[in-house]
Amino acid sequence: MLRKIIPPIASAARNFSICELPAHLQELQKTCHSFADRELKPVAAELDRDARFPAEQIAKLADLGLMRVTVDPEYAGSGLNMLALSLVVEELSRGCGSTGSIVSIHNCLFANLLNRVGAEEQKQHFFGKYSNNSIGVFALSESDAGSDVAALNTKAQREGDFWILNGTKAWVTSAKEAQYGVIFATVDTDLKYKGITAFLLDFDNATGLTVGPNEDKLGIRATSTCNLHLDNVRVRSSNVLGSIGGGFRLAMEQLDRARIGIASQALGIAQAALEAAVGYAEQRIAFGQPLLKLSSVQTRIAEMALRIESTRLLVRKAAVEIDRNERSTKACSMAKWFAGETATFAAHNCLQIMGGMGYVKNMPAERFYRDARITEIYGGVTDVQKTIVAEQVIEQLKGR
Ligand SMILES: Cc1cc2nc3c(=O)[nH]c(=O)nc-3n(C[C@H](O)[C@H](O)[C@H](O)COP(=O)(O)OP(=O)(O)OC[C@H]3O[C@@H](n4cnc5c(N)ncnc54)[C@H](O)[C@@H]3O)c2cc1C
Repeated sequence: MLRKIIPPIASAARNFSICELPAHLQELQKTCHSFADRELKPVAAELDRDARFPAEQIAKLADLGLMRVTVDPEYAGSGLNMLALSLVVEELSRGCGSTGSIVSIHNCLFANLLNRVGAEEQKQHFFGKYSNNSIGVFALSESDAGSDVAALNTKAQREGDFWILNGTKAWVTSAKEAQYGVIFATVDTDLKYKGITAFLLDFDNATGLTVGPNEDKLGIRATSTCNLHLDNVRVRSSNVLGSIGGGFRLAMEQLDRARIGIASQALGIAQAALEAAVGYAEQRIAFGQPLLKLSSVQTRIAEMALRIESTRLLVRKAAVEIDRNERSTKACSMAKWFAGETATFAAHNCLQIMGGMGYVKNMPAERFYRDARITEIYGGVTDVQKTIVAEQVIEQLKGR
């Protein structure tokens, strides 16, 4: 009965938008949607089980131009905007949360940053030297500097035409597979956040750089997460990204963009959970009828759908604000906060609707649950997003 009045979930989700997406973005969305169904969904459980990087899938995504979504065409990019990148990450994450994470972090935190603020020679060097399926990292966090990132302690010391980096960066996504990256270090700890500087690093000739063991994680297990140890690593002064002391501001601006990517990842996982829950409840018979007929199950589905559609509005709004160069910090933090909670909520309810079957590894619900949790942590924990939103709201109201 329910099925007759509601169009199939997948097509309803694809067409959903507060205003119609332009034709090229609808096309992009369809491409990523079918890529997720064809190339990611069938292997997601295996990648997760083996904690295996999806190299084949990333190569195919690179062929589609999706590893440089917002990079200008002269640097082998697709020249699209953050709204496009958000659609890509949402659809891919619907198929595999790990792949969505890899694509999101590389595009939002590295490729977009280099394209946006890199000097011409830096872009030519890094985008030119490495093929478009190469992966870049964003190494900001340290073991004693996560939410309090201004406390970072990796040091950069000037020596002639070089900077010498020493310290350990923690939690670096894709560190094992990366060819290059941006490393944040301080030129003077007394300057606090004003000393933080961003350095571009070629991994293949960085003597003194070692990648630590992969963290054994709860979710997004097909991504690598490692420490990066820097022991007298020499970086040419021409590889300073932005200005000396300008790294903290760069990082904060880029984290707004990353929050759109993480929110989109969360949205894709939530959508996958909703689709799986409906698919299961349609088939599962209890008390002589499909679970879908139970009002308690319908309520869970309605609550999931409500949160997912509200999240989608917030994520689209944040992406459009970035693309219009508007003040977007509040929208980005709201989107990330709500999307992370929505992903966890949807995965929780999917698991509950599946009952015992939700708790075992041959159904995807437990993976959705494990993959969802990271979206409430990385890129700034939910608690910090709440503080950012409050500060922005208070400032806006005071300024009226
Ligand atoms: C799988 C994974 C991948 C990651 N990838 C990257 C990456 O590629 N690059 C990178 O730079 N970092 C990365 N990170 C690091 C991530 O961004 C940090 O873990 C995150 O910002 C939280 O920092 P923390 O772990 O030090 O937690 P803490 O800062 O110690 O916070 C722990 C808890 O304390 C509370 N808390 C802390 N500060 C506040 C506050 N101001 N207000 C209210 N509550 C607060 C919150 O409840 C919070 O959850 C990754 C982390 C993980 C787990």
